[in-house]
Amino acid sequence: MLGRLICRRCGGDWDPAAPRWSCDCGGLLELEYSPCFPEKNLSQAPGSLWRYGFALPLDERVLPVSLGEGMTPMVEMNAPGGRRLQIKMDHLQPTGSFKDRGAAVMISRVRALGIREVVEDSSGNAGAAVAAYCARAGVACTVYVPESAPAAKLAQIRGYGARVEKVAGPREAASRAVRRAARTKYYAGHCVDPFFVHGTKTVAYELAEQLGWRAPATVVTPLGNGTLLLGLIRGFSELVAAEWISRMPRIVAFQTRACNPLARSFRTGEVRPAVVDLKPTVADGIAAADPVQGRHILAEMRRVGGEIRDVSEQEIRKAWREWAERGLAVEPTSAVALAGVETMAEDAGDTVVIATGHGLKAAIPG
Ligand SMILES: *Cc1c(COP(=O)(O)O)cnc(C)c1O
Ligand SMILES: [Zn+2]
Repeated sequence: MLGRLICRRCGGDWDPAAPRWSCDCGGLLELEYSPCFPEKNLSQAPGSLWRYGFALPLDERVLPVSLGEGMTPMVEMNAPGGRRLQIKMDHLQPTGSFKDRGAAVMISRVRALGIREVVEDSSGNAGAAVAAYCARAGVACTVYVPESAPAAKLAQIRGYGARVEKVAGPREAASRAVRRAARTKYYAGHCVDPFFVHGTKTVAYELAEQLGWRAPATVVTPLGNGTLLLGLIRGFSELVAAEWISRMPRIVAFQTRACNPLARSFRTGEVRPAVVDLKPTVADGIAAADPVQGRHILAEMRRVGGEIRDVSEQEIRKAWREWAERGLAVEPTSAVALAGVETMAEDAGDTVVIATGHGLKAAIPG
């Protein structure tokens, strides 16, 4: 493994070849790693995210655990308000969400370290992605889920052969349960594992490559625990550092008003996520009331000049329908970004919206 694991709380420094996901002080770890970019010629590279293998923190002895993830299409479409948008079709991944990017890189490391069994907590899509890549790798997997997790997503997780542990109470109860389990098993947690974000960052590489190695003016994404958003920030920052693109795009992230701890704090200038009551939402994939990386997300978005906003449940439902009628069926969580674009009054310039989850996973009835 490449890079160093650095504790965000105490600055402690750990070897990434050791199976650990947090510091002894309890702090979360960041993988400090500056990729070395080669000549900008990928004509012979694989048609998956492994085309950017040179920028992943895995040494060459690590065999990728792959289901063909990455290199999803970019499609230009007309938005309901008349805007032209590029849609990054990341719902077209092996398990139907962008989380496959993170799971592929994270589980490749897990297998290379000889870890035989992992635990994870998720309300759905991350659990499905980790379960699938564990199945591919021959690693046993248990996913802790809140009781409210959608049945279709649980069926998908079980289908990949993972064990599902339902935990009563809110999403945070599943997080507490998995941490107890993590005392004896490796915690392949998508929100905390320092390798996961190195998989999600490849969506930034891809969309820049698909635009001819250029950043769009604006990138729009849904936001829950921030694994996609932090990947976008890292990916674009690395491309700027390597001089493969000349500047960062403006990143605008949307939450649902039913669960908007980061949008609220962003507006008020707070450094910590606001305390919110989770209200019912169609956007189950981003119903994170207490995002574990919250402070970091707020700091990073302020550093890169991004914005965190929110949309109403009604706006999400409306956008979901309008886009399905245009032939793009994403899951309702993903429609948060599409709804967000419609609320943007400013001239956003050329805009890419990340479609994060497949419409076959969930639909809005009626
Ligand atoms: C996980 C997920 C998101 C949000 O990602 P975070 O990393 O939690 O911010 C958005 N859309 C879908 C479909 C997801 O599964
Ligand atoms: Zn520490």
